[in-house]
Amino acid sequence: MFISFEGIEGSGKSTQIKLLREFLNQEGLSPVVIREPGGTQIGEKVRDIFLTKTDEHFDPLTEVLLLYSSRKQLDTNVIKPALKDGKIVIADRFADATVAYQAYGKNVSKDFIAQLHSDLEISNPDLTFFIDISPELSKARISDRESDRMESESTEFFSKVRSGYQACANNSEKVITIEGTDTIENIFLKIKEAVTKKLNVSME
Ligand code: ADP
Repeated sequence: MFISFEGIEGSGKSTQIKLLREFLNQEGLSPVVIREPGGTQIGEKVRDIFLTKTDEHFDPLTEVLLLYSSRKQLDTNVIKPALKDGKIVIADRFADATVAYQAYGKNVSKDFIAQLHSDLEISNPDLTFFIDISPELSKARISDRESDRMESESTEFFSKVRSGYQACANNSEKVITIEGTDTIENIFLKIKEAVTKKLNVSME
């Protein structure tokens, strides 16, 4: 089973992934946790290029191609083998992030991204949790972080990204939207319930 977590910076993805990982470990289902870009030797190099601030204009299409080179490498070397082994894979962001950040945030064609995704035969999550918070709350929560290239974007940009995520959630039954202003405990209860339900269904 493949589960992804989506949401703007500070929405609580890492917090919830940690809790889900601990819960699944206790159940004897040690999940494989991945992050993008990265997760492979080549992908980590791409991550470095992707997140390092530069004076040069970073073309949004270059961003998409870098993300997909890392994603292809991760899918081939990590995700597909783990799923084949019957493992649970948890992704801290996946393809919906490219739609939200690069299509909605930076005007790259949604069709181009969808075609690339399909032509590269990338795995698709069975379940996606979109933790929704406002750009203002995001800013407040990550104020003490040293921001990378993406985190340095404007509130207006994060508003567009948020609407991209909301569109992804509206277009897919596999996406569960969670109100990110709720408490960490309540959010995790919802996540645990959805994952347990999906696991029980897939084991029947
Ligand atoms: P992300 O991985 O999405 O960037 P984090 O899990 O790192 O987000 O959370 C960002 C910050 O917000 C952390 O300091 C975390 O403790 C806090 N946080 C996460 N979820 C909640 C929540 N539901 N309510 C209040 N604070 C939260």
